[in-house]
Amino acid sequence: MITQELLDLVACPTCLEPDGCAACARAQATTAARPEEYAARAGCACGGPDKPRLEARADALRCPCCGVVYALRVADGFVDLTPRADVGAVTQYADHEFHERLHVTDAPPVLSARVKADMMRRLLRPTAGERVLDLGCGAGKFALYAGRDGARASGVDVAPFFLERATRELGLVLGDLRRLPLRKGSFPKAYTLDVLEHLDEAGVREVLLEARRVIGPSGRLFVYTHAMESSRLARFQRGVNRLARRLGRAGLIDHEREAMRKSDHVNAIRSHEHFDELCAGAGLRVSERRYYNVVFKALVEDLGLRLFEQWRRRRRAGASAAASPTTSSGAPRTVGARPPGRLALGVALVLTWFLKLDVVLFGGIRTGPFFGLLTPSPSRPERA
Ligand SMILES: [Zn+2]
Ligand SMILES: [Zn+2]
Repeated sequence: MITQELLDLVACPTCLEPDGCAACARAQATTAARPEEYAARAGCACGGPDKPRLEARADALRCPCCGVVYALRVADGFVDLTPRADVGAVTQYADHEFHERLHVTDAPPVLSARVKADMMRRLLRPTAGERVLDLGCGAGKFALYAGRDGARASGVDVAPFFLERATRELGLVLGDLRRLPLRKGSFPKAYTLDVLEHLDEAGVREVLLEARRVIGPSGRLFVYTHAMESSRLARFQRGVNRLARRLGRAGLIDHEREAMRKSDHVNAIRSHEHFDELCAGAGLRVSERRYYNVVFKALVEDLGLRLFEQWRRRRRAGASAAASPTTSSGAPRTVGARPPGRLALGVALVLTWFLKLDVVLFGGIRTGPFFGLLTPSPSRPERA
């Protein structure tokens, strides 16, 4: 959805305005011709310069600084503000076929996805009327959920495969998180779920820096990602995963989707101290952190439910083969992207409460996956 409000908040992804402190001010606006120049100015201790507003054209937006014309894809429901300059490798989530195989629906998130979404709501507390930004929103499933209490949710993603409902209900921007095409302080609350692990270290630094500008001096950023470390409890999860892989090889579990999701992980965050450093470099600090030791999730979601799903799939395949051996036309059919029925959703929500015990019981035990609430560091006073 492209609203006037969104058009007032967007900016050129790669240009910076001339204004700044003594260290980062320039005589005129600067473009992305030199990435080092961009990094130095955007990362200035003062909070960095703002990005230039875009001039409205008939069906496009034009940057007054670099002259690039960006498309308003009205029929598709989003603004295309992808940087024209190369800013680094892009995740395979931007591949259409890969995205299709994830089978995303607009049903509310359940199970571990719901645990993450509810931690976001608990720490970020988006309220009615407030603007909230989903950084790396994918199809828009979480942003739809974030907006359900009246918060005005928007999303940015590098891939244009948005849910139909998302294009009607969310402000959507096609863009790169390392060059966020949004003005300073435009979204006082933002979050990023399952995204940072897909970026290299330079990418993580850039995303944090860009997010810092967009949330402004008193904003909040919620993060869910993981550091490359693990608690003793994680051994249990690894044991369950090993068992799941064996059952996958035996055809009792569909292991493919989970493997697909993880196949794109770069895992640049080495430890929690390393993440603290990356945050400090971007002018942020971790003001709250909870860990995600997945004991109940491993048992319920990774093992129990997948065994159940595979069993059901086989039973269905058997039943349809027996019932209608002559109706097959041979044409390929899309399966799996159907939203869950009421009963399935109800059961999943009950199981979700069970999964929340992982955070309630083990949230204080240091391990790799974590939820963090990031706030601008007080050591970096904002330029007026
Ligand atoms: Zn400065
Ligand atoms: Zn520009």
